[in-house]
Amino acid sequence: MADEAPPIRVYNTLSRSKELFTPLHDRQVSMFVCGITPQDQAHLGHAKTYVTFDVVARYLRSRGYAVFYLQNVTDIEDRIIDKMRETGKDWKEIVRHFYGEYQEGMQALNCTSVDVYAYATDHIPEILQQIQGLVDRGYAYVTETGVYYDTTKFPDWGKLSGQKMEELRPGARVAVDETKRNPADFALWKAQKPGEPAWDSPWGKGRPGWHIEDTAITISRFGPQYDLHGGATELMFPHHEAEVAQAEAYTGVKPFVRYWMHGGMLMVKGEEMHKSLGNFWAIKDAIARWDPEVVRFFLVNAHYRSPIDFSPEAIEEAGRSYERLRETLRNLEAALRSPPEAGPGDEALASATRKTRARFDEAMSDDFNTREALAAVFEYAREVNRAIGAGAGRAALGGVKEAFESFGQVLGMFRGRGTGAGLDARKIEDLIRTREDARKRKDFATADRIRTELHGLGIVLEDTHEGVRWKRR
Ligand SMILES: [Zn+2]
Repeated sequence: MADEAPPIRVYNTLSRSKELFTPLHDRQVSMFVCGITPQDQAHLGHAKTYVTFDVVARYLRSRGYAVFYLQNVTDIEDRIIDKMRETGKDWKEIVRHFYGEYQEGMQALNCTSVDVYAYATDHIPEILQQIQGLVDRGYAYVTETGVYYDTTKFPDWGKLSGQKMEELRPGARVAVDETKRNPADFALWKAQKPGEPAWDSPWGKGRPGWHIEDTAITISRFGPQYDLHGGATELMFPHHEAEVAQAEAYTGVKPFVRYWMHGGMLMVKGEEMHKSLGNFWAIKDAIARWDPEVVRFFLVNAHYRSPIDFSPEAIEEAGRSYERLRETLRNLEAALRSPPEAGPGDEALASATRKTRARFDEAMSDDFNTREALAAVFEYAREVNRAIGAGAGRAALGGVKEAFESFGQVLGMFRGRGTGAGLDARKIEDLIRTREDARKRKDFATADRIRTELHGLGIVLEDTHEGVRWKRR
């Protein structure tokens, strides 16, 4: 498969075009994706990013590349300190809790391709070394509130995101600090404020800025240049722009990252998913309510650069589509139990298998177009169903099985067989509505009976300000 498959092309944010993917070192790929800041529940927007890059790593591996996939954990940052203040908890406890929850979500969603999760606070010496290097080279300056990167010293500032410094107004995404020379300058090191966790440094006790954590981790692991950096589009500016400025000023090697990949956002009715907007779906809640494999399918069934419109209805619909593929797999399994040696349509089926594998590869090698790849799989599933109905033979069916296994390997799907049994979401919601109506007319006996019935079925109801939510126990 690897030899005949088309060359891989990747949309590179840096050039704003699809480029032929050629790693620095032969068939080795160094890949980094911005990880979470474990200070709150990871949500479906995060899931979209991590499922995307899980598929990227899986596909590259399926094509024979040795991928080293590194993800950081921002375990010290402003928002973690805010959370300490809000909850009175220690930062380590906050990180441990939300990182644990994140990992549970990743396992459930079958995002298993990360090789190393690197914690920022395990890289303090590397961070200090980089900041010192930037100070020594004249790219950074020290004030009483910390150490700052002087964006006017880096002529390429803005080359990744296309944003100019003048466009950045103070207070937009960067905190206002009167000790900074320019509004766009960002903190490399933040001096300790009372009650904050801190580390020793040549500039006094403090903690690293967000952006320097990533370049300290990547440069110490990969050296001054590496192949692929992924993340959500919203991180492009200033976060990724700052990474470029830090790394290229520090090492003098350009470009720091050869391919920058940015994934489209997960939207809810045209808005970003955000706690303050009340449209927030934690991964934890989503996988309690829906089959995690369906959630993954929902996210993969779109091109990664496109935004996705999320709604519970859209996931239910994805579930129904996905069930069609599972049904084919169940048919296949049944047919393989005692297949005839040969069947009338075997040649056509074998040819469909070859064509679909080629189409799948063509789609995936074109900037990881999972949407097209899945379209090919759906079409194929219909042909497979027909062929099974007509009595397909052992070898042709074996070819189908192998094809589905390799598609499943790349997309991270087709693991669960799906029961097809149990209550479907529509039925559950009908029951909930009936209960709501009963409550409105003060028929509490009926309302209670339905709640008990749902409880017996393993469904837990939660009354929220947006109405009743439910999840599977
Ligand atoms: Zn990052």
